[in-house]
Amino acid sequence: MAGIDPKFGEALKNYGAINFNACYNCGTCTAVCSLSTPENSFPREMIRLSVLGMEEELTSSLKPWLCYYCGECTTYCPQTANPGELMMSLRRWLTSKYDWTGLSGLLYKSLPLTIVAFLLVAIGVISFAASQAFNSETIMHYGHYFEMIAIGAVFAFILFPNIIRMWYFVMVRSGKKLSLTTYVKTSGELFIHMFTQKRSLGCDDNQFRWFEHFILVIGYLMLLFTTVFLDWFGSQNLFVILLGYVESALIFIITVDFVKSRIQKNREVSKNSQPSDWFFVIWLLLMGLTALLVRSFIGLGIIENNLWMYLIHLTVLAQWALIIVPFGKWTHFLYRSFAMYFEALLAKAN
Ligand code: SF4
Ligand code: SF4
Repeated sequence: MAGIDPKFGEALKNYGAINFNACYNCGTCTAVCSLSTPENSFPREMIRLSVLGMEEELTSSLKPWLCYYCGECTTYCPQTANPGELMMSLRRWLTSKYDWTGLSGLLYKSLPLTIVAFLLVAIGVISFAASQAFNSETIMHYGHYFEMIAIGAVFAFILFPNIIRMWYFVMVRSGKKLSLTTYVKTSGELFIHMFTQKRSLGCDDNQFRWFEHFILVIGYLMLLFTTVFLDWFGSQNLFVILLGYVESALIFIITVDFVKSRIQKNREVSKNSQPSDWFFVIWLLLMGLTALLVRSFIGLGIIENNLWMYLIHLTVLAQWALIIVPFGKWTHFLYRSFAMYFEALLAKAN
C-alpha cells in the first residue's frame, strides 16, 4: 500500500489549499461537477487522497488537470471545504513535482523569493543595457535574439524534461503499455486541447470565459510568432505592423478583464488569488501594453530618445520568459494539454 503522510495537508496549504480538512465526504461536490464522470470521478476522491497525504497516487493522477475551476463544487459544498481551490492547489503542487529544478515549488511557496527573482532579472536587463552604453539599436537587436534563445532554451532544458517526468509519473507508473503508433495517432488530442481548451465548454455557464481564454491563447501565440519570426518591431510591412497591434490590443483588453475580475472577486475562480495568479495576469497585461507602446514609439520615430520604454518591455518580457513560463502559472497551459493527451492514451489502453 502506498505511503500516507498526515503532514501533507499542511504542505498543500502553501500552494493555496483552504479548509479542505473540513470535508466530511458527502459527495455533493462530485455530484454537481459537470466534468466529473463515473470513470473519472472528482473532486471528492482528490480531497480524500489529500487528507490522507497519498502523494504517490496524487502525483500519478491526471484528475487535477481535468478540472477547469468553474467553482460549482465550492458553491455547493455544505462544509465550505473549498474543493475547487483544492483542485487548483493540487495543480500548483503537481507543477512543482514535475519540475526537475525544484524552483517552481520554491517560487510558489515564497513570495519574497519570487520578488527577488523578478528583481534579479530586472537588474540583469539594466546591467546588459548599461554594458551596451544604452545604445538603442544594439539593445533592440539583442533583445530580439533574446526572445528566440530564451524560448528555445526554456523548452529544451526545463519544460521538455518536465514533460518527460510527467509522462513517467502518469504513463509509466500506470503500467499500461502503448505502441508508438498509438502515441502518434493520438497526438491530435494534444494540439486540439492546447489551442481550444474545448473540455472547459463542459463546465456550466462557461461559454464566455472559454471564449476569452481561446482568444487570449490565439492572440498570445500569434503575437509571439509576429514579434519573434516576423520581427514586428523591425518590420516595415503594414500587414505585420497592424497584425501585431491587433494581437497586443486583444491581450491587453482580455487581461484587463481578468485583473478586474480578480480585484472584484466576482467569479469563484478569482476569489482566492495566489501571488502566482496575480503575476500571471499582470505580466500578461504588461506584455500586451508595453509591446503596443514600444511599437507605437517606433512608428512615431521617438524610440531612440525614449529607450526606457523598450527597457521596461524587455524587462517584462525577460521576467515572463525566465520565471513565469518555466516555473509559474504558464506551465498549467502546457501540463493541462499534455494531461488531456495522456488521458486519451490511457483510455485507449483500457
Ligand atoms: S461537498 Fe464538501 S464536504 Fe462534501 S465531499 Fe465535497 S468537499 Fe467534502
Ligand atoms: S471547480 Fe468545477 S470542474 Fe473543478 S471540480 Fe469543481 S465543479 Fe468540477
